[in-house]
Amino acid sequence: MTDLANRRDLLKGAAVAGAAVAAAPALAQASAPPPFADPQTKYTSQPYPEQRQKWPALQRDMTPVPDCGERSYRGSGKLQGRKALVTGGDSGIGRAAVIAFAREGADVAINYFPTEGPDAQDVAKLLRAEGRKITLIPGDLTDQEFCVNLVGNANRKLGGLDILVNNAAYQQSKDSIAEVSFEQFDRTMKTNLYAMFWITKTAIPLMKPGSAIINTASVNSFAPEKELLDYATTKGGIAIFTKALAKQVAKQGIRVNAVAPGPIWTPLQVAGGQLPGKMHEFGQDTPLGRSGQPAELAPLYVALASGELSYTDGSVFGANGGTGTI
Ligand code: NAD
Ligand code: MG
Repeated sequence: MTDLANRRDLLKGAAVAGAAVAAAPALAQASAPPPFADPQTKYTSQPYPEQRQKWPALQRDMTPVPDCGERSYRGSGKLQGRKALVTGGDSGIGRAAVIAFAREGADVAINYFPTEGPDAQDVAKLLRAEGRKITLIPGDLTDQEFCVNLVGNANRKLGGLDILVNNAAYQQSKDSIAEVSFEQFDRTMKTNLYAMFWITKTAIPLMKPGSAIINTASVNSFAPEKELLDYATTKGGIAIFTKALAKQVAKQGIRVNAVAPGPIWTPLQVAGGQLPGKMHEFGQDTPLGRSGQPAELAPLYVALASGELSYTDGSVFGANGGTGTI
């Protein structure tokens, strides 16, 4: 068996071995280059076991545990000295961005819902042990006052703010509009749109030229799932907000872009994001034949935050396993 085949088996084995094992590739050598790997088999393509957790769900209790790059992301100083606030940074895609930002040299403030403390502590402990500066600011983003204070607190604790990632979201799958309660609709709008507006409006006056705002959109911004009526509506809004805001703040030297993920294995999916009984289908119908892992998106967030992509503004970048959605 070749070294590459060995490594592929390791990656697949790590991904499917069970609850105690992360979906993560185990990359022993910190200095080794990223593996040359077939994207179809880089991570598990096994159907996920049916599972459900009370919202907002903890990533540490998922089977398998998502890979946010804990063992694989290696930085090279791309964000040295930068100051980042990431909402929903405790788990999933936000956590992958936090790990990557920190290892690229940024100081990072993480917001999360208060009951997600165990996930947030896990990532903070990991990064602090590596000598990184991580600030935890729990709180409910559906509260306007909290959102405004969040930005002020992050700015004060980090000593500035030049990267903002609006990544938190609420997603509940329902077969029909008849099942979408007024409360669900309200929470989805507040979390995904209002909080983004409140936080961004408060952050912009604090941001210097060269700063970057990155919003997490979705394939649902462009091709809505019928079970995600309210969520997809917000995701369409996030893509348009990104483009319109970019036009406004370009003259302040602030770039605004978005990442639009396809099916990614995260707590969102096990806390009501998928209809009951559908977990085994998640990501299976993409051309790559599997869902993505959060770690596979982190380089997009780093690139958009870094000054290297200085002419990229008002754009939305897909990561969807080949569906061609964007
Ligand atoms: P996730 O559950 O790990 O992250 C969502 C986070 O939102 C939670 O960790 C939580 O901290 C935060 N949040 C939700 N409501 C909150 C509230 N009221 N107050 C404070 N925090 C709150 O799941 P994820 O999939 O990594 O989600 C991150 C982003 O990716 C979201 O914007 C989501 O819409 C987007 N996205 C995910 C997928 C996917 O398949 N997982 C696909 C497209 C887009
Ligand atoms: Mg979470």
